[in-house]
Amino acid sequence: MIELSDNWGIVGHEWAVEFLRRSIASNHLAHAYLISGPEGVGKALLALRLAQALNCEQAGVDPCLRCRACQRIERSNHPDVRIAGMATQAAGAKADDAARQKELKIDTVREWQRDITLKPYEGRRRVFILHDAEKLNEAASNAMLKTLEEPPPYATLVLVAHTAGSLLPTIVSRCQLLRLRPLPRAQVAAALRERWNLAAGDAELLAAWSGGRIGWALRLIEAPDALAARQQRLDELLALADQPLVVRLRWAEECAKAYRAGEQTAVFETLDLWQSWWRDVLLTAAGCPQAIIHIDRREALAAAAAQYTVSDLHAFVSSISLAAQRLRDNVNPQLALEGMVLAMPERQAPQARK
Ligand SMILES: [Zn+2]
Repeated sequence: MIELSDNWGIVGHEWAVEFLRRSIASNHLAHAYLISGPEGVGKALLALRLAQALNCEQAGVDPCLRCRACQRIERSNHPDVRIAGMATQAAGAKADDAARQKELKIDTVREWQRDITLKPYEGRRRVFILHDAEKLNEAASNAMLKTLEEPPPYATLVLVAHTAGSLLPTIVSRCQLLRLRPLPRAQVAAALRERWNLAAGDAELLAAWSGGRIGWALRLIEAPDALAARQQRLDELLALADQPLVVRLRWAEECAKAYRAGEQTAVFETLDLWQSWWRDVLLTAAGCPQAIIHIDRREALAAAAAQYTVSDLHAFVSSISLAAQRLRDNVNPQLALEGMVLAMPERQAPQARK
C-alpha cells in the first residue's frame, strides 16, 4: 500500500485515484485511458492530475502541484501535455462556425497525430487529453483508432467522455476504462462544508441539486449570482403552469429561437431544471419525498403533488426527456419544444384524483 497523499484533490472516486497511483508505482501504465461519467463529476480533474503525476519533477506517484511541471500543466502551458476538445476546436474557428460545431472533426485528431510523433521535450511522458470524445465523428474516430492501435511508447492518451457507449467499441476496447459515477449526496455536502466552507444549509441544497457531481456544484459557487439566477429561472418555469396554452407555446418558440441561435447548452439546462422539478413533484405524489432535489421547496412540491395524478406526472417527466432527445436527434426545435408544452398535465380537482 502506497502512502496516501491528498494532492490529487479529488472528492470521491478513491478507487480510480488508487488504481492510477498503483499503475504509476508499478510502471504498468496503460497506453490509453477512457474516463467516462456525467458532466461535472470530476473527469477533467482526474485527467489533469494524471498528467501532472506523470510529469511531476518529484517523480513520485502523486503530483506535488508545486514544481514547475505541475504548475505549467495546471495552466495548460506544458509542451508535453496537450489538451483538445470541443472548446479548443471552437477556439480555432470563427464565432459563427464555433456555435454550430457539434462534432469533433478529423482535423482536430490529425493535429494531435502530427504532434504525437515527437518525443517528450522536457517531461517524462507526453500526455494527450481529449475531452468530449463522445463527439468524435466517424472519420475522426477512425483516425483516433489508428493512434490507439500503435501509440508511441512515451505517450499516454486520455479520452474523456460522458458515456463510453457512445464511442466506437473498437476505441473503448483499446482503452483502460475508468467509469466515474455520481457521488452520494452526503459526500458532496460534506466536501462543500469542509473544503469549501459552505454553510450547512447551502451545502445540503447544492449537493441535492448537483446529483452527486461536485464539479457542477463548484461551478455554481464560482459564478456570482448563479444560485439566485437558477432559482429565478425555476420560478419562471413554474409560472408557466398557470399560463394559458398560447403563452406556453410562445415560450416554446422563444426557447427554439435561442436553441437555433447557438444557445443549446442553456436550453438543455432549462429542460434539466424543469424535469428535476416535475420529477420531484412525481416523487412527492408517489410518496418517496426522501429522493427529491429541490429540498428548499418541500411545501410547494407537496402543494403541486396534490394537484396532479401520478400517471400524468409520469407522462410529463417522460415528455421532457423526449423533447431533449429530439433536440439531440436534430428534430426541428420548435416542434420538439411545442410537443413538450402541449403535454403539460392539467390540474385535477381534489375529488377527481386517482
Ligand atoms: Zn510536481
